[in-house]
Amino acid sequence: KEKVNILGIPFIKTKREELTKLLIDKMDYQEKCFVVTANPEIVMHAQKDAEYQKTVLSADYIVPDGIGIIIASRIIRDYLPERVAGFDLMMDLLSEINKRKKKIFLLGAEVAVVKKAAQKISERFPQIQIVGYHHGYFQLDDLEIAQKVLHSDADLILVALGFPRQEMWISKYYQMFTKGVFIGVGGSFDVLAE
Ligand code: UDP
Repeated sequence: KEKVNILGIPFIKTKREELTKLLIDKMDYQEKCFVVTANPEIVMHAQKDAEYQKTVLSADYIVPDGIGIIIASRIIRDYLPERVAGFDLMMDLLSEINKRKKKIFLLGAEVAVVKKAAQKISERFPQIQIVGYHHGYFQLDDLEIAQKVLHSDADLILVALGFPRQEMWISKYYQMFTKGVFIGVGGSFDVLAE
């Protein structure tokens, strides 16, 4: 896939619909994939923090989650086709996963929020198997959480710990996994639970 470099971050040149298909393929083939939906805040933070930069660059796909990044791509005349917002990508994936009866794990947000988000997902997408959920207030080095996710055998792991924690968590444990699409989705569980 073609990339566009913005301030040292290689963004993948795909529309949301195409990315959704790519990620469903990964799930079908039981492969793993780490996706960062990078907003300008993330791009700026990666410039200042070398460890976070390394984490973001370790992702398989980095997509532009902000109109500022699209505008930057126009300025350098290496066009990114559209903004891919984390929440929208999540909703598209849930819709596709519902048709395929796949397994998801929700990690992050407050106890009541993640529970409510799980409820809302099962109401809207009854065929999805929610194989587990856990709130997001734990230490990053808590191995038990990662093991819980691993043993759930989820196809999609939505990580809503906010940036930079969600990307740090994914990259810390990613090598333990042989399958699973991992996406940091920021405040998306709060939106779902509304
Ligand atoms: N959060 C969490 N653990 C933390 C800090 C935050 O689970 O230690 C959750 C918080 O409850 C909220 C989300 O992460 O659901 C952060 O949302 P925000 O919109 O602030 O995302 P950001 O823009 O920081 O990525």
